[in-house]
Amino acid sequence: MKSSEAVKLYFNRAADQLELTENMRALLLTPKREVQVQIAIEMDNGDLQTLLGYRVQHNNARGPMKGGLRFHPEVDLDEVRGLASLMTWKTAVVNIPYGGAKGGIAVDARSLSTRELERITRKFIDEIHDVIGPDTDIPAPDMGTNAEVMAWIMNQYNKYHGFGPGIVTGKPVEHYGIPGREEATGRGVGIIAIKTLGRLGRKPKETRVALQGFGNVGSHAAKFLHDAECRIVAISDLSGGYYREEGIQVLEAIRYANQHKRSLEGYPEAEKISNEELLELDVDLLVPAALGGVIHADNAERIKAPLIIEAANAPIRPDADALLNDRGVLVLPDILANAGGVTVSYFEWVQNRQYYQWGLDRVRQELDRVLTSAFEEVWGLSHEHDVSLRTAAFMLGIGRVGRATVLGGIT
Ligand code: GLU
Repeated sequence: MKSSEAVKLYFNRAADQLELTENMRALLLTPKREVQVQIAIEMDNGDLQTLLGYRVQHNNARGPMKGGLRFHPEVDLDEVRGLASLMTWKTAVVNIPYGGAKGGIAVDARSLSTRELERITRKFIDEIHDVIGPDTDIPAPDMGTNAEVMAWIMNQYNKYHGFGPGIVTGKPVEHYGIPGREEATGRGVGIIAIKTLGRLGRKPKETRVALQGFGNVGSHAAKFLHDAECRIVAISDLSGGYYREEGIQVLEAIRYANQHKRSLEGYPEAEKISNEELLELDVDLLVPAALGGVIHADNAERIKAPLIIEAANAPIRPDADALLNDRGVLVLPDILANAGGVTVSYFEWVQNRQYYQWGLDRVRQELDRVLTSAFEEVWGLSHEHDVSLRTAAFMLGIGRVGRATVLGGIT
């Protein structure tokens, strides 16, 4: 199933509960604008390379469109379309004044030199600067991009439109960024996990966690959960999985990865397992924090964790989601679980517009407040309507976007 079809399926399930008309569904599902551009650059060795870049602006009923920029070989227009739609519902679930968008370039960022990466980024902004802006559409980091890339985006955009840091979020802290943005998505995942354990009457100390993905999101989620006294028994990255029954020393593993080009390859303090085995471990909490679609119809039956927190975007395919749901596995959906990143992006944008530097304590406090209230609302709706947390989150998001659309006037 295509990415956009998967989001549509979840959307329609929630729309049925809300008794939304067909016409309203068509309006809310149709992206406002989709852009595909050619990015032609000269590589360091003099070769010419032509790449494709995308930006999908899905909906702006609640504010400027917002969403990350992904550099990954599997990026295509449909994936970006699906992820842009997810951003619309995500910003609405946490009730920040944004719509949804997403961008991407089909490229393997790890195979590029820093200068090549910079040239690609700047060329992309050359091609799309007319359709983005601090009041229109604000990019941010996603898979394969980081604070440095965001700084290039600001610089390139400002060449055309004059100085203004609010064009992009996730910038370096020393260059108009906000403290706590980098940790925000992982921290948010941790906050949601601890709240869920609380509702289930489970103690963090008695919770064994397996985390797939040890990039920015996975490593910060691991650190937060470790600090909250959960036992992280397995972690993984592209090099494979690492299992230790007594618990992984998370800080040590982060240090190891930092010293080895951000890879866990060769991490000695654990038993080596595969990424597939990690997903199927008998643990209390599973956190997929890497690629989309890692839990599918073929492995869903073998997933043993009774609780899954979606740190990645769309890590569970809809057919697997249905199987897990039938088995009573509780799934905290991406549009709630990983919304910490875009929430702190919002604080950064507010800070940029105020020309006032927020402190880390304030960022963490406000993040906690926003996520707590979204969690309570989703949990409440799910019980009130006897639907999954995913359907409840979509209901909350769609309700807000739908009301804003009607209030703002359609014609
Ligand atoms: N890429 C992140 C996401 O999927 C963050 C987006 C943002 O900060 O705008 O939520």
